[in-house]
Amino acid sequence: MKYYILFGPPGAGKGTQAAPMAQRYNLRHISTGALLRAEIAAGTALGKEAAVLIEKGCLVPDEVVEGMIESAFNAEKEAAGFILDGFPRTVSQARDLDALLARRGESLTAVVSLIIPDSVVKERIAGRAAIEGRADDAKPEVIENRIRTYHEKTEPLIAYYKETGKYHEVPAEGTIEEVGARINELVDRL
Ligand code: AMP
Repeated sequence: MKYYILFGPPGAGKGTQAAPMAQRYNLRHISTGALLRAEIAAGTALGKEAAVLIEKGCLVPDEVVEGMIESAFNAEKEAAGFILDGFPRTVSQARDLDALLARRGESLTAVVSLIIPDSVVKERIAGRAAIEGRADDAKPEVIENRIRTYHEKTEPLIAYYKETGKYHEVPAEGTIEEVGARINELVDRL
């Protein structure tokens, strides 16, 4: 199985780019944010617990997202692999992912890292708020907290993955098609 991580700050275009990438390479797209929003919409206990944190722009506990990732891996029978979008988001999640893959006799294929400045991130999130209606996209202080959380807790993963030799950067400014073409060119080469 192939295991790709689509990495980048909130608003980098991970969800947007994961869909065509999944189709092109027969991969299952797993977005922990989308799975959490589905739990919230279904009104589950997990969703209620997560909603409080998501609405503030904070991360939910590692165990919660890791449980969802493992279930998604176990449920998949047909795809050639996975695109992880929004996971891992902390070094401890990355370590736990390595351990989970090792238990399955698998390993990470590559990290595709979308590179984009904070100023563009803010514009994109503001644009998305009007279209998708995500509560965590609407409030400037929540957006700020998500960007801060990204720099503090998620960005250290870049150094973690550079060590593995599996880390690849893709400039994420430009149109959806332009960024998609850069991703395809990279994945075809890998
Ligand atoms: P996203 O759709 O990836 O922007 O995620 C939306 C929100 O869900 C984040 O701001 C976090 O509150 C939560 N979330 C998603 N993925 C994770 C993760 N891997 N670890 C912790 N919290 C997460």
